[in-house]
Parts: sequence; C-alpha cells; structure tokens
Amino acid sequence: MIDPLELIRENLRALKPYSSARSEFSGQASIYLDANENSFGSLISAEQAASFGGGNYNRYPDPLHKKVRTRIAELKRVPVETIFLGSGSDEAIDLLFRLFCVPGRDAVLITPPTYGMYEVSADINDVRILRAPLTANFRLDWGSLEKGFLESPRMVFLCSPNNPTGNALDSTLVDRVLREYPGIVVVDEAYIDFCPEKSLLPRLAEFPNLVILQTLSKAWGLAGLRVGMAFASPGVVDYLNRIKPPYNISSLVQDATLSALERVDEKERLVAAILSERRRLERELGKSRLVETIYPSDANFLLLRTVDGTRIYKRLLERGIVVRDRSKVFLCDRSLRITVGTPAENTALIDAMRVLEREFT
Ligand SMILES: *Cc1c(COP(=O)(O)O)cnc(C)c1O
Repeated sequence: MIDPLELIRENLRALKPYSSARSEFSGQASIYLDANENSFGSLISAEQAASFGGGNYNRYPDPLHKKVRTRIAELKRVPVETIFLGSGSDEAIDLLFRLFCVPGRDAVLITPPTYGMYEVSADINDVRILRAPLTANFRLDWGSLEKGFLESPRMVFLCSPNNPTGNALDSTLVDRVLREYPGIVVVDEAYIDFCPEKSLLPRLAEFPNLVILQTLSKAWGLAGLRVGMAFASPGVVDYLNRIKPPYNISSLVQDATLSALERVDEKERLVAAILSERRRLERELGKSRLVETIYPSDANFLLLRTVDGTRIYKRLLERGIVVRDRSKVFLCDRSLRITVGTPAENTALIDAMRVLEREFT
C-alpha cells in the first residue's frame, strides 16, 4: 500500500503553517479583540446578511469550513476528514501540484485531449508534463499510460467524464491505474452528476493515493461562488489545509453554499432537465449536414465534429451564440464543444445551425 504522505514535498513536511486568529482560538467567547476586525459591524446590512442565511460579515470566516464540510459529508456519505474545500477545483488542482511536485524536477501524466487547467497549473509550478494520449475514440490507452509511468510522474490526472470529449473513462482501466501506479491518482469528477457511471467516492478508503475532484460549478449551478471539493485520505486533506490560503472561502460563500446544499431535489430536477435537453440537441443537431459526428456524452455538453469548426463558430458568434471552438485541440479537428442550454437557447442554436446549413453549399 502506498503512503501518500511519503510523496509530499520535503520542505512542506516541516512547514509551520500560518496560524490565524480564528484557528488559534475557535471556542466561544463574548468579546473578540484578537483579529483586528471591525468590531462595530459591516457595511452589509442585517437584512441583506439574513437573506444570505448568515451574518457577522465583519468577522473572518471559518478557515476549515466546518459547517459546509459536515453537510457535504452527510450528502456524499464520506467522513468529514476526507473533504477539502477550495476556491473552485482549480484551487485544489494548484495546491496538489504544490503539495506533491518539486518545481523544475518533477513530472505529472495527463491524457490529452483533456481539461486544460492541469497543464496550466503544471506550467505555473514549473512541473514537466508527460502525455498518454487517449485513443481516437477517446478511451484510455493502457500501453501509453504504462510508457508514461516509466518516467515516474508524481501524479496522474484522469478526467471522467472527460472535458472536452464528454465521455466517462473505462472504469476497469481507471481501476488498473489505481492498483498498479505508485503515485497520486487524481480523478476529476466535475461532471459526475450527469453520468450513469458511479463515482469513485465509496472506494476512497481502499486507495490512500486517490484524490477525487468534484465541484459545485456544474450540476449545482454555482460556478460564480467558486467552491470545489477534493476528497482524499485524511493525511492528504490535512496537508492541503496547511498549505491553502487560510481564508480561501468567504463567509458569504459558505453561507450561500450551506443553503444551496439543502436543495438536493432541485439539483436533481436541474440535472434531469439538462439531460433531456442534451438528448434533444443530439437528435436535432444529428440531422444537420454540417455535423459529421456527435460524440457520446456523459456530461452537460456535447462535442461535435463538424465540416468546419472554426467557420461555424464564427458564424454562430455573428448570431450572438457563443460555443467553444476546440478544432485546434489534439484529436478534436473541426470540433465544437457545446454546453446544453435552456430549451429556448437550444432552439435558437438548432435554428441557427439550420440557417447556416443553407449558407454552406
Ligand atoms: C468545469 C471543470 C472543473 C471545475 O472547475 P471549478 O474551478 O470548480 O469551477 C474542474 N474540472 C473539469 C474537468 C471541468 O470541466
């Protein structure tokens, strides 16, 4: 069994974290004169504060987000010590690089085409990128993964369902990576709520080297709040908490998140509506002469191979519809990534594609 703590950067094992006023004293008192806050109050009125479900915005937030993590633990049925919260999963990705990789020395393995932030975070942290490309139909390729492992990457990033391709990765191969590769395995499940494949969360305890990323930005509709989750063994979560900015999630966001997490049924309704619209888009766009292939999607978007991705992108833009041109991305020639919109938005897109069809003769 791998001990992930042995993979932590040498200098961080000895790090003395910043000790904030709120972490040194976390009990109850009646007078707080320890944090140089504004004791008189804040410029958010009491009524406004109440409408966010909270208050006391003159005070620093809970650095360990205990209430939110407790609610997530309940929802996801995992121990609270296995939950880390970041300002978006993008913060968690960056912190994982800082925790496990020595700049200028280490490498990580990614499986292109995949989410762009892994490479950006690697570049920012001066960490080398190794690539194990997906096959032409976007499946993991064990042969190229094995070749990558030979260079001893510190982490491997698997995105399932994958962005920009939309498909879930083969769970047998993900399992095999977890069993055979002796480093940190990050499985990014940003789109798991839209996917029939199961999350790896129930298997967290089985693999101490597994880190699962999820987010409130997609199914929960809270991209503007910036709340990302990393689920990992308690030791790894503890280190992530030591190296994060102490107050990475504001009180306002913690309050709003708590009230949103009460509305699980509403989230399920949104997911069902998105999936039903995704099926309609697949059906309607499938009829277009401009569309060569619609790749099977387990997410809230579709990747389409078209006759000319960039030209269609520009024409749609002229009609006020912005999609993502992915035609320069590895294995995604002529392809567009289209997020499922509201019924009216999707109808506008379908209509615009019909008009373009006449133009492309
Ligand atoms: C959208 C997305 C995220 C979410 O990032 P946040 O910072 O939580 O908004 C993470 N991973 C992938 C693959 C994504 O597509």
